[in-house]
Amino acid sequence: MVTCNLCPPDDNHVHADSILDHLRLMHPDEYGDGPARWPDGGNVVVDTTIEPDDITNGGQQ
Ligand SMILES: [Zn+2]
Repeated sequence: MVTCNLCPPDDNHVHADSILDHLRLMHPDEYGDGPARWPDGGNVVVDTTIEPDDITNGGQQ
């Protein structure tokens, strides 16, 4: 089970296999056109927890 952050806290558990159907049927405004995909079909994941310096080591080689 996964948690749907858009549902009320007392009724927000959804089977992981059906989370996309849940979003599409229950939260169509938020679902929009569905999850973003890369050209190869992989899901686009947006990680807002990292900073550019985490990858570039602050510009030091
Ligand atoms: Zn929901």
